[in-house]
Amino acid sequence: MIWNELENGLTDLEREGLKRVRRTLEAPCGPLARVDGRDLISFCSNDYLGLANDPKLIEAACAGAKKWGVGSGASHLVSGHLSPHEELEEELAAFTGFPRALLFSTGYMANLGIIVALVGRGDAVFADKLNHASLIDAVQLSRADHQRYPHGDLDALERLLAASKAKRKLILTDAVFSMDGDLAPLPELLQLAERFDAWLVIDDAHGFGVLGEHGCGSLSHFDIPANPRILYMGTLGKAAGAAGAFVAASDTVVEWLLQRARTYIFTTGSSPVISCALLASLTLIREGDERRRQLRRLTLRLQNGLSGTRWQLMRSPTAIQPVIIGDNHETLQVALALFDRGLWVPAIRPPTVPKGTARLRVSLSAAHREAHVQLLVDALRELA
Ligand SMILES: *Cc1c(COP(=O)(O)O)cnc(C)c1O
Repeated sequence: MIWNELENGLTDLEREGLKRVRRTLEAPCGPLARVDGRDLISFCSNDYLGLANDPKLIEAACAGAKKWGVGSGASHLVSGHLSPHEELEEELAAFTGFPRALLFSTGYMANLGIIVALVGRGDAVFADKLNHASLIDAVQLSRADHQRYPHGDLDALERLLAASKAKRKLILTDAVFSMDGDLAPLPELLQLAERFDAWLVIDDAHGFGVLGEHGCGSLSHFDIPANPRILYMGTLGKAAGAAGAFVAASDTVVEWLLQRARTYIFTTGSSPVISCALLASLTLIREGDERRRQLRRLTLRLQNGLSGTRWQLMRSPTAIQPVIIGDNHETLQVALALFDRGLWVPAIRPPTVPKGTARLRVSLSAAHREAHVQLLVDALRELA
């Protein structure tokens, strides 16, 4: 019977150490979490600058709700595009240095919308093998030829581009890889895009707010100015502390997306309250050098603390600091042992990461104190 198949499938997940557990938080997002009445130090969230529960964002959201209400009432192209949405798009364009930006409800939707609007049958997408799931799904939905190159392998990418007879070519990459924390070689990718007349689509979910001057993101980190063949996607639910995403690009590209991106057109506009909170968040990001310095101090403390142990960090320059353990069950055991000690670190297993590379994904936030990180270091050293 059809439901037996699902029950067997769930049993298989359990046996392979792949069954996920969802925990309910009984306190707002922050370095101190409350779960089942227990207080934990959390290293799970992508709230890298500690803005998700910042008083200025809360104030802006409350004021926004009073002025604009909660719902936008329709899709953006019907009547759901309100002044706060418009103002946020203008600020995002100015902040990232592109002529124009378009706001999406989530990063997942932005990726689906962009790729499907840009390429289709007969075109080819050249994608890093470690790209985020939403980028993989986007290419499949577009029906373009999906050519995946080994992680960061520019020679392999060049060979694929040179051999391609596709009408339209698009290079697609995470700027900061979400499970490894390393950076894509953006200057070299841009050179290849220019040589082979390809689009370059960059997903900066983990770089926006964290890297670059004033937290402008990965392009700024590499000193790459706006360029008509670049589409820069940033998400607003991570360092920016709220929800949503945007694409910054040339006027023509943004107008095309506004006309054609189905995940933009066929969905209700996000709440204006979110845009009001995000306008406050952008100010804090711009003025957030001290938060970014704190993040670097914490990263160094973790990296130095774990040096010489069996478990090495991946030398990531970002807030994502994975500890590779390898085996699914062992990773889960270590995560549980940490949980018993009041330290909450997510165990990331396949299919999110390649088989045999199960890991603890430690993510740091400017809201952590050095003492929080030291507790994690001490516990990991003891368990190793
Ligand atoms: C989180 C993430 C997304 C999805 O963004 P949401 O706003 O959470 O939907 C897309 N790409 C990458 C690399 C991400 O890490």
